[in-house]
Amino acid sequence: MVITQGQYTAEEFIQKKIELLKDEVEPFFAVDLEDVCNKHIRWITSMPRVKPHYAVKCNDDVNVIKLLSYLGAGFDCASKGEMKKVMDLGVSADRIIYANPCKQSSYIRYAEECGVETMTFDNEQELLKIKQIYPSAKLVLRLVTDDSNAVCRFSMKFGADMKTACRLIEKAKDIDMEIVGVSFHCGSGQMTSKAFVDAIQNARTIMNYGNKLGFTMNLLDIGGGYPGNTGTEDYFAEIAAAVNQAIDNHFPDDGSVRIIAEPGRYYVASAYSLATNVIASRDMIDNETGDEKYMYYINDGVYGSFNCVLYDHYVPEPCLLAKNESNEKFTSSIWGPTCDGLDCIQTSIKMPKLVIGDWILWKNMGAYTISAAVQFNGLPYGKPIYFMSKQFWDTIKEAYQPPRRKSQYDAQLMRLNSTDCSNEIEDDMLPWILEDPI
Ligand code: PLP
Repeated sequence: MVITQGQYTAEEFIQKKIELLKDEVEPFFAVDLEDVCNKHIRWITSMPRVKPHYAVKCNDDVNVIKLLSYLGAGFDCASKGEMKKVMDLGVSADRIIYANPCKQSSYIRYAEECGVETMTFDNEQELLKIKQIYPSAKLVLRLVTDDSNAVCRFSMKFGADMKTACRLIEKAKDIDMEIVGVSFHCGSGQMTSKAFVDAIQNARTIMNYGNKLGFTMNLLDIGGGYPGNTGTEDYFAEIAAAVNQAIDNHFPDDGSVRIIAEPGRYYVASAYSLATNVIASRDMIDNETGDEKYMYYINDGVYGSFNCVLYDHYVPEPCLLAKNESNEKFTSSIWGPTCDGLDCIQTSIKMPKLVIGDWILWKNMGAYTISAAVQFNGLPYGKPIYFMSKQFWDTIKEAYQPPRRKSQYDAQLMRLNSTDCSNEIEDDMLPWILEDPI
């Protein structure tokens, strides 16, 4: 963890870090923890009625989990491994939702042993399985959504339609299982608000039906899907405004229904910038045009941090850190370091000529990157280096002293905006600053 004296952009931080690295050229992430805090601040100010439960699967970095725990978020866990990871960091079971509609029996047993009571389901077999293993579980019924405008869709795999949902509620009543609410997921990287508005309305209909059958439906979980890349702030604001309106329409603020969400990429996408090094290159002549073209090999690839290219439909954009004397651009491709031909990050892009040893920066690399990376061919992938300015952290700490009063918090945020930053970096690897406050 690097505590800086001033506020740095990821690019500035990476430049400083590279100057200090000398010969060591392993890939690394600059993790801007201020960005994670700012996302949280934006969330709680944009949707004050919706308590975020960070989706650990998106990026299971312990330091992000610690920070979000400190800031007061809850957690969405998909497995025993994620529940254990979060609880080992001191998070209590009542801050966790086990949000995987199809669960291994032994993991349900583990949830019971640890006291994680709330879990999702979307079909009768799962309902019967939970009844056998954990009859006192608090069930959340996941509805299908229209996720056609999302980058990654889930509705072909999960979610009950309205008719099935009513049948499941009746079945739960018959077998004496408790359903406490409804959840949905509008697809990851959802860019329109309509899907959320429609899903909230459907949730209301199903919760009314549950209440009519005698359940106390007091939990609405509006899932994940909120965009988190730099530049998507307007989409997020649009979704937040529509969600606020829809929950006010269908769930008046009378304390009868607790509203949570499961944002993943929203929190971490923009906080992680990856620095990679050009380890090899090939010059070629295009047979058709006779133009020069180049292939560059970098030291992280689709088996490592760039697995998002395959699994998350992400098209990463390279930012060059080296100053080029010429502005001339050439057709280039960028490849990962393994021996596999699939390991390609950019098939064709126009860019200035690079030389071996140059660094390339990749922004918005925090979501669905390190959580699914492997060391194929024995090659390491980006190692996180965290940074945050001392002023910012002091302000956050002060703002989060209990009791967490909103007026006090706002005052801290105003102070934060007027913070004067010096331009020096302290490269002390301080002990992790968030160890105590969880
Ligand atoms: N909740 C569930 C159940 C999910 O499956 C996912 C993503 O796969 C998320 C939340 C997080 O989604 P996102 O990262 O788009 O916010």
